[in-house]
Amino acid sequence: MSLHPIGKLYTHLHSSEQGLTQSEAVLRQARYGPNQLEKIAGTPLFIRLFREFTHFFALILWFAAGLAFFAEWRDPGQGMATLGYAVLGVILINGVFSFWQEYRAEKALAALNNLLPHHTTALRDGHAVQLMVAELVPGDVILLAAGDDVPADCRLIEAFGVRVNTANLTGESRPQSRDTKVAPEELRQDILHAGTSLISGDARAIVYAIGMHTEFGNIARLTQTAAEPLSPLQKEIMRLSRLIALFATLLGISFFFVGQVLGLSFWANLVFAIGIIVANVPEGLLPTVTLSLAMATQRMAKKNALVRHLPAVETLGAASVICSDKTGTLTQNRMSLRQCYCSGALVSPGELPEDAPMFDVMQYCHDLRRIEQEGGAVWQGDPMEIALLMSVRTVREHVKRQDEIPFDTERKRMSVICDTPLGPILYCKGAPESVLPLCSALWLNGEVVPLDETGRANLLAVQEQMAEKGFRVLALAYRSLPAEGIETQRETALIFAGLAGLIDPPREAVPAAIKTCHAAGIRVIMITGDHPQTACALAREIGLAVDPVAVTGDRLRQMSDTDLQLLLHEPELIFARTAADQKMRIVQALQRRGEVVAVTGDGVNDAPALKCADVGIAMGLSGTDVAKASADIILLDDNFASIVAAVEEGRAVFDNLRKFLTYILTSNIPEMVPYLAFVLFKIPLPLTIIQILAVDLGTDMLPALALGAERPDPDTMQRPPRARGERLLSWAALLRAYLFLGVLEASAAMAVFFFVLQGGGWQWGVVPGLHDTLYLQATTACLSAIIAMQVVNVFLCRHAQASVFSRTHRRNRLIWYGVASEILLLLLIDYTPWGNALFGTMPIGAKVWLLIIAFMPVMLLMEELRKAVVRRK
Ligand code: ATP
Repeated sequence: MSLHPIGKLYTHLHSSEQGLTQSEAVLRQARYGPNQLEKIAGTPLFIRLFREFTHFFALILWFAAGLAFFAEWRDPGQGMATLGYAVLGVILINGVFSFWQEYRAEKALAALNNLLPHHTTALRDGHAVQLMVAELVPGDVILLAAGDDVPADCRLIEAFGVRVNTANLTGESRPQSRDTKVAPEELRQDILHAGTSLISGDARAIVYAIGMHTEFGNIARLTQTAAEPLSPLQKEIMRLSRLIALFATLLGISFFFVGQVLGLSFWANLVFAIGIIVANVPEGLLPTVTLSLAMATQRMAKKNALVRHLPAVETLGAASVICSDKTGTLTQNRMSLRQCYCSGALVSPGELPEDAPMFDVMQYCHDLRRIEQEGGAVWQGDPMEIALLMSVRTVREHVKRQDEIPFDTERKRMSVICDTPLGPILYCKGAPESVLPLCSALWLNGEVVPLDETGRANLLAVQEQMAEKGFRVLALAYRSLPAEGIETQRETALIFAGLAGLIDPPREAVPAAIKTCHAAGIRVIMITGDHPQTACALAREIGLAVDPVAVTGDRLRQMSDTDLQLLLHEPELIFARTAADQKMRIVQALQRRGEVVAVTGDGVNDAPALKCADVGIAMGLSGTDVAKASADIILLDDNFASIVAAVEEGRAVFDNLRKFLTYILTSNIPEMVPYLAFVLFKIPLPLTIIQILAVDLGTDMLPALALGAERPDPDTMQRPPRARGERLLSWAALLRAYLFLGVLEASAAMAVFFFVLQGGGWQWGVVPGLHDTLYLQATTACLSAIIAMQVVNVFLCRHAQASVFSRTHRRNRLIWYGVASEILLLLLIDYTPWGNALFGTMPIGAKVWLLIIAFMPVMLLMEELRKAVVRRK
């Protein structure tokens, strides 16, 4: 480490080694404002509203409206203007509704951001305190560790092994080292910029620019934030909607020509073509999907899974493998020292001799920080190091840290060099396999004796023994260094001080969550840096495996890709002593098998694996900023069980959209059949276009949304994950909606239509006047039957296989609100003067209602029968 002329820096920024005083910080905050980037104004609302009226479907509808007005102009008095206005009404209602849904979805997503506060550690009045990043001011002295985002532009005062990732700022993807040297040719060597992150090391730095005054702020001013790309599901919906719209348009046009051939009047034919198009265009599909994804993110957040990218919701629902860390995710990360091996004996921590050098290593060799909080100071950092520090019985004098060789998952050890009254001493702790080869002597009852190969092998055997009991084992060692510190080879010729066995109990909810995963056909693979035996002991304890196969990082390194593929066939697989780069290799190998992989991570080195996985999940509590930035989902409580809960929500989104689609597609058939019958059999038109719109944009709306918001079915986690390429609208779903449910509804609608007509003495071939009471009543009956059948259909659509009466369904109040709205609208349309005027309806009598009501249980019964047959298969 080299020293910087920091005195000048402190003077320049009116600060000191103690940091700022709290009162000075408050003054500066008032002067300089918060340390945050100003929001770059997005697209203005009115432009976004305008877009809702100019997209593909809207254009089709504009065209239809234009056609109607043109027809009115050419041949007034045919009622074409009314139709034109109705279609304009559709465009309006639709645009506003879509806009509202998208706005709500955006708000829901924006609210999620506030759930994850960004903290940093700074010195105030000489104490380390946790601050919100926004509270930083110029002159603040901040403490940074590996994995932290740099919160403001600052200059290094102290740096141990600092490397930064500046990709966000400069696009340079290789890590850059930084230190306190100020060489003229490398002026920026001691500068850390906001927007970059520490990949390794520890640093103390002084802030000189915040918020929009940082380099990053400058760039942010210039660039617009990129919009989120559409998720696969949204893309599929878009494709699907276009396909349906195209189909509808083609159908409309071809029937127009059929009508011409059959000799129908040009205008009647046109109405017919427009009707078919309007009935089938799935107007509000995309915004509904976006909203239902956004609502799912809210439900997931309640279950402690914070979604950063919308597509992750659906991908998580399709996850077939979860690769999970051990420490903190499956376990509580609440460590306690239970057993030690010192001076040739396994003892409890209380039995360690007072002068055991293990205590020195436990006290000095750590990266903990003492943070001042309300209610007293606390240690912050790795719980394992806290456990070791807390086990020190007699606290020794404070010594100054001279240097540090930081921990990383590759080395699996860390060392610190302290200035002690006895001269510089190096304290080292780490995985026994990593530390023992460096030891050439052993502390034995106050003496230092040589340690040979056999001695080291014996110690490794003791580690195995402890690990089998589920202990996480660390080796502790030390050595004196010559006063003139040697720069290289400091971690050699160490004196072995002892082994520390720590216990980290599993999280309570984990065994049940693992069981759920097994039932849901999701494989759970533990990938840990810990010892294989420790990992296996935990795997058995939590029910992850009975007879696990543990593969170490060393063995994995020797394996070819083919060997790895073969290995992945093992049903109970654990990867132990893995290095971070290997995590990515495992993820890629699983993906090559066609698996949808969710992977957890917390460290800097996990970032590539998190990015390459289908769903990267970072730990919210223990995770580094770097890991969080690379993840799709952040676990607010670090708990494995929360992942499983989120998978369930993800699956529900897909299921719900299917329910929703089935429901709205069903009503397309009874809307289309009347037109076909009208053309083919020359009957009076049973349903007018405005009445179709009353269903599509009125009565169907709320029940459909209610289906989109269903809670996960209880059997959601009892079926295997959906296949990677499975379509939202499967053939089975399409056939069920169009050829079964739709046909049932259409039959009822046509039956009541003829019932009314014939009851009024209508003869086949007679064309009633458009304002004829009998005709108005007949169309009203047809419309009422469709709506009544849709009331039944909401319940049928709640599950594709389970009976309506089964206990499968969870309470969903929205369904009842939806049904109530449906019935209320129907009554308004049928029985109020303005309803009659607007929709061309006329009150119908009790007899007609009896017939309609009689059809309702028939539809229910038929669908129950179908479901029973499907279930039996
Ligand atoms: P997981 O990967 O499941 O979180 P882990 O914490 O054991 O498990 P790593 O953080 O990669 O994984 O650690 C690997 C090994 O390095 C540990 O088993 C331990 O032996 C050693 N180790 C971990 N943290 C420290 C530390 N702070 N100081 C020294 N050695 C450590």
